Amino acid sequence: MKKRITAPREVLHELQADYSICTKCKICQGVHVQFCPDARFWRNCPAGTRYRWDAYYASGKMEIARGLHVNEIEPNERMAHIVYSCMLCSSCQEQCYEVKQLHPTRVFELLREKAVQDGWGPMPEHKKLLEAMEEYDNPWELPKKKRGEWAKGLPLKNLKKEKAETLFFAGCTYAADKELRNAVRSAALCLVEGGMDVGTLGAEELCCGAPALLVGDRDLFETFAFENIEVFNQLGVKTIVAPCSHCAWVFKEEYSREINQEIKVMQISEALYHLVAKEKKLVPEKEVRMKAVFHDPCKLGRRFDLYKQPRAVLEAIPGLELMEFYRATFNSLCCGGGGGVPYAFPDFALWTAKERLFEAEATGAEAIITSCPYCVQMFKKAIGEKKSEMKVYDLAEIVLLSLGKEV
Ligand code: SF4
Ligand code: SF4
Repeated sequence: MKKRITAPREVLHELQADYSICTKCKICQGVHVQFCPDARFWRNCPAGTRYRWDAYYASGKMEIARGLHVNEIEPNERMAHIVYSCMLCSSCQEQCYEVKQLHPTRVFELLREKAVQDGWGPMPEHKKLLEAMEEYDNPWELPKKKRGEWAKGLPLKNLKKEKAETLFFAGCTYAADKELRNAVRSAALCLVEGGMDVGTLGAEELCCGAPALLVGDRDLFETFAFENIEVFNQLGVKTIVAPCSHCAWVFKEEYSREINQEIKVMQISEALYHLVAKEKKLVPEKEVRMKAVFHDPCKLGRRFDLYKQPRAVLEAIPGLELMEFYRATFNSLCCGGGGGVPYAFPDFALWTAKERLFEAEATGAEAIITSCPYCVQMFKKAIGEKKSEMKVYDLAEIVLLSLGKEV
């Protein structure tokens, strides 16, 4: 029997109590409105807002889960479109859990796993992504020999040859996308500047598996997870820092039962929070003059409550005026990059990113700062499409700038 790394495994019918008692109250369609200062921005489900039909909102997908459970409905192409155009952003769960204690987003994650098991998921574009993961060990078809190129010239140890206290796990998207190179190099260099003993896996780094999990292929996800966990546990590191919010998500939620319990997993915004705001090992002294909003990546905010950490870092940057989106922190709107949507429905993903960009512009900010490669990619696409003057930065880039350093 195939070894399972994420016991106990949940399956959709275990959440029957959730999808069976969704009352279709539709509270989940919007934000916590008492914390939204402008009526233009109360909607918060990208799929429902874009496609308009009830089925695309959380209430509709809860009904799909219930209908499948009692054999009232059969899967079809439209159902697959509905299930896979969800960003898995957890905005609906943010609302629903507070009043009903239900877990709609968890239902939708497991609905995708059921779709894959029953053969009506994922979408054809996702199948190509999964094939790339199997062939290249990453979803971007990045050849292995190029995987470690992002770190060229940086003072980082090779953990395959020597010991270090911290594993910096770059992730596939940062490793593959040259437009993100400054961001990932800045993140690694900030740790080194903060006195951390940092190494990488270089060309030996594998995908964390998150793209497979997002589209419902838990078996492929677990193949990657199992290999990674074996490597992590043999390295002798005390800390793993991931600049990618999706890597951090699966390490914290899925790998955590099997990783040596002494290893602490941090996303880069947590590591920077410790170095800048708590331990003051990094002292930002150089002015970075800009008005900026912080965009909360869904996998950081709603999954791990990482709201105050990146803001505390930005508040320590001289010259930077930190502003807020109308939909901020727990009310944050997805960037459009969630749930594997950009692979299958790039127009819808871009539509969502443009809506978020419109909101950023409405605040009067000059820049969007975030801490996720998908968010940065989506905002860059939206800025290009709208010919906007808005700038977009990764949090670590701003910290490095304020240290007066360059990568
Ligand atoms: S998912 Fe929750 S908030 Fe949304 S309609 Fe159902 S019960 Fe209401
Ligand atoms: S997870 Fe996000 S996109 Fe999906 S139904 Fe909930 S709010 Fe809508």
